[in-house]
Amino acid sequence: MPEVPLPGAFEWVRYPWGPAIRCRDLAAVAGHCFTTRAPALGTGPLTPGDGWHRVALAMGVSAQSIVRLRQVHGTRVVLVGRHETFPPEASEGSAGDIAVCDHPGVAVCVKVADCVPILLADRQSGGVAAVHAGWRGTAAGAARVAVEALGEHFGAKPGQLLAAIGPSIGPCCYRVGQDVRAAFEAGGRWDGSLDAWFSRVPSIKALCGVPGTDPAASGGKPALFLDTWTANADQLRGAGVPASQIHVSRACTSCHRDTFHSYRVDGEQAGRMIGIIKTSRR
Ligand SMILES: [Zn+2]
Repeated sequence: MPEVPLPGAFEWVRYPWGPAIRCRDLAAVAGHCFTTRAPALGTGPLTPGDGWHRVALAMGVSAQSIVRLRQVHGTRVVLVGRHETFPPEASEGSAGDIAVCDHPGVAVCVKVADCVPILLADRQSGGVAAVHAGWRGTAAGAARVAVEALGEHFGAKPGQLLAAIGPSIGPCCYRVGQDVRAAFEAGGRWDGSLDAWFSRVPSIKALCGVPGTDPAASGGKPALFLDTWTANADQLRGAGVPASQIHVSRACTSCHRDTFHSYRVDGEQAGRMIGIIKTSRR
């Protein structure tokens, strides 16, 4: 599995199951990683020795204590507080796209294959969040909702948060219809930002070609390219997280399809990767 070049804020880490990505700043506050094609992470019940058990071992929790949300492309928050019963009720697959947690025995994760995984940690309280932001979640402001949830539940101040945006489809490859921009516009809150998030021409070059078909080729309206990395970083900054504490891995799942799962490339058969995080406070 080729190791994709990463910005200086990130590093590759070798686990027994294979390579994963870690954000150096975030690692100082909370154990976390973004996985790659390995290990295989099924969506069904846990089975002994499966990928979930291997990741759990590395995170220092039991596999039953990994909160795996039933993701619905929204902004619903699932809270796992430190006094929660064990294993937490939410580990059974609560519906939501944002998990916030300060339980020392629990890790929270989001499953992705092109969608944006965002991990957050509060330097003060140690509270953490995992966020699943596809285009719908991004249009609905999932990153901002997560910042607010950390404040509400753990008293986290945005200025004390660290954020890492993991591997996901980049502005090079994320071709969308004009209906997607219309959905952002319908939300009515991103007015000044949409020209930076959507462009007619990709801002960077796709390494393996843009997946999918161009709607313009069959007489449709010209496609747009959506930059969910910038959109989510902008939303975090807008919610008060200092720019210097927001780190974007800039690893495109479609350009680096040998390393990452990509729904756009692999279709329905695509596997899933996770961004997983756990508080370091006891
Ligand atoms: Zn790409």
